[in-house]
Amino acid sequence: MPVPVSIMWFRQDLRVKDNPALNAACDLGKIIPVYIADTFVPEKRLPGSVTKWWLHQSLNSLNDRLNGHLQVFSGDPAELIPELMTRFDVQHIFWNRLYEPWHVARDKKLKQALKDDGKTVKSFNGSLLWEPWDIENKSGSPYKVFTPFYRKGCLQAAEPRFPQAPVARITYADVDNAGTSIDELGLMPDIQWFDGIEKMWTPGEDGAADRLATFIDEAAANYKTDRDIPAVQGTSLLSPHLHAGEISPNQIWYAIKDAFGNSDDKNIDTYLSELGWREFAHHLIYHFPDFPDKNFNEKFDKFPWRRSQKDLEAWQKGRTGIPIVDAGMRELWHTGYMHNRVRMITGSFLVKNLLTDWREGEAWFWDCLADADGANNTAGWQWVAGSGADAAPYFRVFNPVLQGEKFDKQGEYVRTWCPELKKLPNKYIHKPWEADKATLKQAGIVLGEQYPEPLVDLKASRQRALDAFNEIKG
Ligand code: FAD
Repeated sequence: MPVPVSIMWFRQDLRVKDNPALNAACDLGKIIPVYIADTFVPEKRLPGSVTKWWLHQSLNSLNDRLNGHLQVFSGDPAELIPELMTRFDVQHIFWNRLYEPWHVARDKKLKQALKDDGKTVKSFNGSLLWEPWDIENKSGSPYKVFTPFYRKGCLQAAEPRFPQAPVARITYADVDNAGTSIDELGLMPDIQWFDGIEKMWTPGEDGAADRLATFIDEAAANYKTDRDIPAVQGTSLLSPHLHAGEISPNQIWYAIKDAFGNSDDKNIDTYLSELGWREFAHHLIYHFPDFPDKNFNEKFDKFPWRRSQKDLEAWQKGRTGIPIVDAGMRELWHTGYMHNRVRMITGSFLVKNLLTDWREGEAWFWDCLADADGANNTAGWQWVAGSGADAAPYFRVFNPVLQGEKFDKQGEYVRTWCPELKKLPNKYIHKPWEADKATLKQAGIVLGEQYPEPLVDLKASRQRALDAFNEIKG
């Protein structure tokens, strides 16, 4: 009997360890590992600039692990997959599931077409602790509020799958390289703008494992307090690795439990619940397919958003004159990352103080974030805007000065990303416009020259946001 051959279709699961589809394919016989740069997804959901850079490194790392056997293509998988199955003369295909509406619709159709053609298609859960249909409320509907979703739904459901043992041996089918090369996918930019990004990250399975080990050794025990301080490395920095699937949430979940036991430690409980927020975002995007593009709360369809290209660009470039906002936007630009607390502050400033539609912010983050993720980014922005499920109430407008004074007391974060403010005393580091002329002079700053005047008056723009909200409250 000839050994069965399958296509293992890698998507957002660019790893060899704890990869259920890969394990199952290898259990069956020989594999042909395939990656397709998917041109089918809606244009605005094609990978952004930083994700493309990440993908290039991550695919190379995966290809190394597969001893150079990764077959790479570009195109619409709905057409390419049936073609490849014919070309390679294979009967079986394995993949791990995705949950964004554009993927779900495509995969369902493709699966059916392949089955109709007599092929065997097996899909697996490779990227969630609980799949969206595993968790429902008492009336059998999806949850819309995080705490009951996580505490009553997830934590009362079956324990997440334990990470699988690594495949003992991968045997590759002997086929000609039919595709293109990773370089030819053209993911790397022509201009070298990614030095800061390259310095900060090591995409790939090893980079992910190192991050997790460092987090467990150095930061997890103080996560609950340190996670809110942007100048401290208090979080795991695993989000881009999770997005690319270089590590599974199951590996993280059980590594944390293994390191800290099943204790009631608040730090560990808080960390695991952040993974829960990731689950919640995927739950929402799966059950409410309009979630990525439309206000979850329809009242916001009538919201009087302002359109100001000048304000949007000032925000994007970190030139708003509000130090903590500018520091965050510059961190994003230089590293492809922004601290979660600062994502909330910069997001609130854009949506509330500048009255800009959250979708503008979402698009900018999509292009600039290494962890840009269809579910988490939309959920984050709808949360900030107040238009989402279980969102921050619209009337709660973050005051960036108070946020800065609370979470960046000594101004270290601001001084890192806005070095022109370095010499300002702590008292004014979050509000340079209140400093007297002599203090500014001593710090070497003329507002409007080295550093901008504030783009808006915080008090007046807060009131403007509340007035706009009152218009739709009804
Ligand atoms: P940790 O604090 O170490 O958390 C561990 C993991 O839990 C993260 O890696 C992430 O996968 C998950 N997680 C943590 N917080 C959240 C959250 N609020 N929502 C969903 N998952 C969470 N996260 C993304 O992964 N991709 C995005 O595109 C994204 N866009 C965001 C946009 C806005 C406006 C906001 C407010 C938040 C966004 N987040 C996004 C959530 C969060 O900011 C990041 O997941 C987190 O900062 C990543 O850093 P970390 O890995 O060190 O997190």
